[in-house]
Amino acid sequence: SASRYSVIVIGAGVSGISAAKVLAENGVEDLVILEASDRIGGRIRKEDFGGVSVELGAGWIAGVGGKESNPVWELANQSGLRTCFSDYSNARYNIYDSNGKIFPSGVAADSYKKAVDSAIEKLSQEANRGGGGGGCGDSTEPASMPKTPIELAIDFILHDFEMAEVEPISTYVDFGEREFLVADQRGYEYLLYKMAQDFLFTPEGKILDSRLKLNKVVRKLQHSRNGVTVITEDGCHYEANYVVLSVSIGVLQSDLISFRPPLPRWKTEAIETCDVMVYTKIFLKFPHKFWPCGPGKEFFIYAHERRGYYTFWQHMENAFPGSNILVVTLTNGESKRVEAQSDEETLKEAMGVLRDMFGPNIPNATDILVPRWWNNRFQRGSYSNYPIISNLQVVQNIKAPVGRIFFTGEHTSERFSGYVHGGYLAGIDTGKALVDEIRKERKSESKNHLLE
Ligand code: FAD
Repeated sequence: SASRYSVIVIGAGVSGISAAKVLAENGVEDLVILEASDRIGGRIRKEDFGGVSVELGAGWIAGVGGKESNPVWELANQSGLRTCFSDYSNARYNIYDSNGKIFPSGVAADSYKKAVDSAIEKLSQEANRGGGGGGCGDSTEPASMPKTPIELAIDFILHDFEMAEVEPISTYVDFGEREFLVADQRGYEYLLYKMAQDFLFTPEGKILDSRLKLNKVVRKLQHSRNGVTVITEDGCHYEANYVVLSVSIGVLQSDLISFRPPLPRWKTEAIETCDVMVYTKIFLKFPHKFWPCGPGKEFFIYAHERRGYYTFWQHMENAFPGSNILVVTLTNGESKRVEAQSDEETLKEAMGVLRDMFGPNIPNATDILVPRWWNNRFQRGSYSNYPIISNLQVVQNIKAPVGRIFFTGEHTSERFSGYVHGGYLAGIDTGKALVDEIRKERKSESKNHLLE
């Protein structure tokens, strides 16, 4: 029969790679990594667009400059990754109405304060009611509903981007409030190649190690007290003592992978409780720039009567001067809507919004890039979004092993879910837990052996 591995790691995103590295460095070298796509990186992914390399997934190293050092920031520094400081805080002073007028800063500041206060009030009401438990849909509505375009725009920014204004977020508390955009031709994913180099055979910058198997879509896990059989879409069977499953929460919620016997109820219920956030960065290339640059202008906001309609914009002149690229970010319902339509349709909508802000004479974009994280069956969304007041038990249940299947991924991080450093630290955590388990098993095996 097929050879039996100590461990099969499913998924080669940041968490799968970091888990495999911990295992390999602790003597578990007969492992194999099965990755569904044709590359490592998962939700860390660059693509060439308009002459530069843009990040379709994770873009920022979030949480820098605080009392503790963000491990991903350390990796970036060790690798000489090029980054660029982002100051979102100005965005609220660059809010355009549909006639291209910027709201006076006093009006914007007032609306902002009102929105923050109302979100805090809503949060404390929920806390008093006991909170937690169930999912929270797209995002929480503040106590007094936002109605005007500027209120809607600020509500969107606050809830879909800047929850730190409303409640403490561990990333910013532990690692600091600064965020750095990765602006490197090698991409954010270069950090993963650096990690892989430490334990996989990587001549000339390519991973050529038979322990990494690409284009292996796992469809079935048969597990028992004695081991796990992993079956892939192309009909291969792999046997192992243990499995580390690093696929996203969206994939766990889908029917891509089936389990025999099925996962227990406490597990499936926890998986269903966690919301999946969809976050879409649309890139647009122009023949020349027509938007203001300079200090405090990197981010700007469009206020529309529809919440989240092409609201949040960024120009890429700080990251890549002369690239003439704009990025607009959509989330959740708007992301799904845009994923379902043609890119030409999306381009038309985006140009309409830009003409509202900057007038009818601006040039058409010459190129557009629309990532589709929601419809990607190996992702099914962008990142996990635990209900604001969720109990720790949910994350713990999502993370807890089921027999010989260990779970990892950003969604298993108690403090940093949703982030690259969350995935990275979760991988290390799961790797270590499994190393302990393997040592325990070996010890008891040798004891039994002596008794015989
Ligand atoms: P993944 O990267 O999803 O890795 C899982 C791997 O499993 C994938 O490679 C997938 O192909 C593979 N897989 C899935 N199904 C199967 C199967 N059946 N068989 C085999 N393999 C399978 N984080 C930040 O810190 N800063 C940001 O600015 C930021 N922005 C983001 C923007 C977007 C648009 C997105 C999508 C994410 C963003 N994130 C950001 C979140 C960050 O990218 C993730 O938290 C992190 O990369 C997740 O890593 P992971 O290893 O947990 O999962």
